[in-house]
Amino acid sequence: MQRPRYDPLSVPVPVVRSTSAWETLRSEALSCTRCPLARGRTQVVFGVGDPSADLMFVGEGPGREEDLAGEPFVGRSGQLLDRLLAEELGIDRSRCYIANVVKCRPPENRDPAPDEIEACRRYLEAQIDLVDPVVVVTLGNVAARLLLGTTAGIKALRGRAYPYRRGHLVPTYHPAFALRSGGQVVAEMRADLVRAKHLLGASPGPWTLRVESDSPAATRALAAGLAQVVRPGDLVLAVGGLGAGKTVFAQGFGEGLGARGPVTSPTFTLLRQYPCRSAGGVELFAHADLYRLDRLVEVVDLAIPELLAEGAVALVEWGDAGAPVLGDSALEVVLAPVPGQLDRRTLAVSGRGPAWSGRRAEVEAALGGSRSGTTR
Ligand code: SF4
Repeated sequence: MQRPRYDPLSVPVPVVRSTSAWETLRSEALSCTRCPLARGRTQVVFGVGDPSADLMFVGEGPGREEDLAGEPFVGRSGQLLDRLLAEELGIDRSRCYIANVVKCRPPENRDPAPDEIEACRRYLEAQIDLVDPVVVVTLGNVAARLLLGTTAGIKALRGRAYPYRRGHLVPTYHPAFALRSGGQVVAEMRADLVRAKHLLGASPGPWTLRVESDSPAATRALAAGLAQVVRPGDLVLAVGGLGAGKTVFAQGFGEGLGARGPVTSPTFTLLRQYPCRSAGGVELFAHADLYRLDRLVEVVDLAIPELLAEGAVALVEWGDAGAPVLGDSALEVVLAPVPGQLDRRTLAVSGRGPAWSGRRAEVEAALGGSRSGTTR
């Protein structure tokens, strides 16, 4: 049976966010004197939250309390934002990323001037690049105008979503304006956050991280690291050509799960099961290999979805061949040799579907924590 050809060029752009890129950006901002706002600040208010979040808020600039605390939205405005996040999205601020257009406090809480916005926009744009959110919610006129490139006001802009980068931009009011204005504006803000929530749900956003391994031992270590983040019911697909390292990956994955007995290729049986005991509470590891698959119905006979429903974790080599039966929700690991380098492999790790859409950060940590692989 002819297997789908793997084309490394089809792998999405690597998006393992580098800690050093964040550190470099942050330290540059913390000592920045690019505009006159540097003179009046107590401290630079860089941003806060999950650097891999699907949802990002962009406000205007720090106020007095933010300037003192070094964190955006900590005063009454921040309390309102936190309350709306909890009530409309069911999250706290650690689950999103929050930044401002300018990082230093404008005097008397005035709007930032055009030259100040222009001087500071490089930091915000780099933050959006690094977070790479699905939905950006702008808070108030300044952020919406900057990111949408318009001079229209927030009252005209809000009430709908705009295509933005890989997802959407939802303009809403600044919480300080909502506090001053009262019930109707707060209600409209709530409606805007519900719109953002729906867009997040509609865009589970497959994500991809890429990591390089320089030896079979490194591939095993990366797989063992990934095994630490899987939970009962998770499906992992190992994809790649002959000799790409899928079985080595499966062996490392089994080791990481604490599988009893050596994990060997199940080529002639299609599926082997190993009792295990993992950090994530997994007690059964199902290892399938679809290389000798003749008909898709054979995948149905393996009853992998049933095993998953009973709490097993399944890793399926040549998993792309069984995807029509196995479903869309999976962690897919595409292994590819690096041309001209015998033992070197690229692993493109993609999370797809509801089971994986919100787990990019934990997978990224598992990959980044490997001492044997090189993330980039
Ligand atoms: S507001 Fe931005 S550009 Fe201006 S000094 Fe602060 S960090 Fe630098």
